[in-house]
Amino acid sequence: MCTRDCGFCAVEHGTPFPLNASEPETVARAVTELKLQYVVLTSVTRDDLQDGGASHYAEAIRAIRTLDPGVKIEVLIPDLKGDPTALETILKEQPDVLNHNVETVPRLYPQVRPQADYRRSLELLKRAKEIGSSLLTKSGFMLGLGEIQEEVLDLLADLRGVGCDFLTIGQYLQPRSDRLPVVRYVLPEEFEDYRRIAQELGFKGVASGPFVRSSFHASQMLRMAPINKMKLQIPKAQRAGYRSSPTKGRGFPERKCLC
Ligand code: SF4
Repeated sequence: MCTRDCGFCAVEHGTPFPLNASEPETVARAVTELKLQYVVLTSVTRDDLQDGGASHYAEAIRAIRTLDPGVKIEVLIPDLKGDPTALETILKEQPDVLNHNVETVPRLYPQVRPQADYRRSLELLKRAKEIGSSLLTKSGFMLGLGEIQEEVLDLLADLRGVGCDFLTIGQYLQPRSDRLPVVRYVLPEEFEDYRRIAQELGFKGVASGPFVRSSFHASQMLRMAPINKMKLQIPKAQRAGYRSSPTKGRGFPERKCLC
């Protein structure tokens, strides 16, 4: 149960149960018993909670590290309504990766993420990088919701502009008949084009393909980071050149507005 109602998501909308105080400990024990070395902690959006669930994330990180300090932890968090204190609560526990998905291009937010705000999501990623200097940040979005090439390139530039390190790009699939329809199935070659462009823009790790989801090969992405730290940072003027050249001839769609 989630306090929001995104147009692409099959999670039920309503008031979630109160937090289970023993959950962090239970999760930590499961991580230990399963001998996991990399975990992704995530949640629905808890707008009903004062801190958006930040202290619960923090407790879960602490509980896991108490039982096994070597486990790498990625948190895939909601936007916490842009509350900087809530974000700091999570970052104080020093997760290895902070992931927050932008999901789509800003024009489609009213249909795709009606209770979210594109700028607020970017600000969260930016602030996380400012607070946690060694923190790696990550985001992701879906293709096939009606976005056009130029909007995707702007999105890539925006994410790099806030220092985002890792990126996932996947195909949107309609999870239920009352959810947004798929506007287009994107060709694997187009995913590959975006992967290449994103890497050239300086992302340290990029997973892009029809079946890619937020946690796709997440541990491998972290391992790739040191290797790719030397990736070329392309100057802004040069980035602008990507708008016309690299994907030429790939048959990107004309504007198919959902509005
Ligand atoms: S905030 Fe997350 S869980 Fe809630 S409806 Fe949106 S995508 Fe689904």
